[in-house]
Amino acid sequence: MTVANGREFLSIPGPTNVPDEVLNAMHRPAVDIYSGSLLDITSSCHEDLRTVFRTEGRAYIYASNGHGAWEAALTNVLNRGDKVLVLESGRFATAWGMMADMLGVEVEVLPGSWHAAVDVAAFKARLQADDAKDFKAILVVQIDTASGVVNDIPAIRAAMDDTGSDALLMVDCIASLGCMPFAMDSWGVDIAVTGSQKGLMTPPGLSFVAAGPKAVERHQSAGLRTYYWDWTQRDGPLHYQKYCGTPPEHLLFGLRKAFDILLEEGLENTFRRHRLLAGAVHAAVDVWRTGGVLDFNIERPEERAVSVTTVLVKQGYDPQRLLDFVRETCGVVLGIGIGEEMDGKALRIAHMGHTNAPMVLGTLGALETGLAALDIPHGTGGTQAAVDYLGRALK
Ligand SMILES: *Cc1c(COP(=O)(O)O)cnc(C)c1O
Repeated sequence: MTVANGREFLSIPGPTNVPDEVLNAMHRPAVDIYSGSLLDITSSCHEDLRTVFRTEGRAYIYASNGHGAWEAALTNVLNRGDKVLVLESGRFATAWGMMADMLGVEVEVLPGSWHAAVDVAAFKARLQADDAKDFKAILVVQIDTASGVVNDIPAIRAAMDDTGSDALLMVDCIASLGCMPFAMDSWGVDIAVTGSQKGLMTPPGLSFVAAGPKAVERHQSAGLRTYYWDWTQRDGPLHYQKYCGTPPEHLLFGLRKAFDILLEEGLENTFRRHRLLAGAVHAAVDVWRTGGVLDFNIERPEERAVSVTTVLVKQGYDPQRLLDFVRETCGVVLGIGIGEEMDGKALRIAHMGHTNAPMVLGTLGALETGLAALDIPHGTGGTQAAVDYLGRALK
């Protein structure tokens, strides 16, 4: 017996829900790539990217997933043998570092916990060492989608300024842009990268890089540049060059609509919605954890991300069984734990992008149904706590 028939609800931290309006915007014939409406779509999307990144710098659109944007960021500004420092706080910054390593960059990882944000004091201490001036770039994520942590980017920048670091600050905002504040220029971020399929509510396949003046200056002498990712190529006068080939037209139609939706809601309202929905999820987990099996992965409440919550599942209880039940019996797809620390030990609830109260409350209700049906010890009433939280917050 199941209650899964109906629309399956995807609650994984990427790809996220694509609004029907975005899907519908893509359902149209291909258009000319040399003239007409597509050129306006490109320039308005570049403009809106600058708005969302909060930068006066350059924006680039790639036909790739987020990993492509990582490669674009690295190859456009670095040389073989350059040293970079990766700030660990989960899985994603270190994976970016592995990519740099394969490109011939010398990568040092500042070890971090999977249960907390980057330790800014430890970072600052590392920057004070004699050899720290060799670092050409610092790689960090704003939100780590594996651990569910949010890092304090302005504090990381302040540590660099205090120690006179000349490195580029490169920030992965793939799981945070469009979900929480980010201010590239005023925060002193040199390169920011994101993807289409998380907070930006567009199908996977596009990624974006924003580059500030210092990054553009380093670009001039970067030895790792390749034709496909190269910013100079993409700055060329022909529309075709902006994509180094055929533009991913239909994804651009979708992206255009997604920006319309995002900017119509208003970024501040979008951020507030994410905070409220995250608060509801956290209220539920806070009750469930009293049963002693589930717990927050991120220990300090203020370090928990607004876009994804990673929930630890105590040894002896298989998260996959719970995820299978919730999917097959209730029609909700939750995220698995990823990375060596979380594999088989956690689940992830996404609350990112095109998400509202019924989606989040429905997800929590389905999860609590699974906890009950599978006799997994938990504090009962987590979903009610989420409702109560929202009721208070929205009064
Ligand atoms: C999803 C994600 C990535 C990887 O993006 P892909 O599109 O899967 O290549 C990188 N960093 C973060 C923080 C992410 O959430």
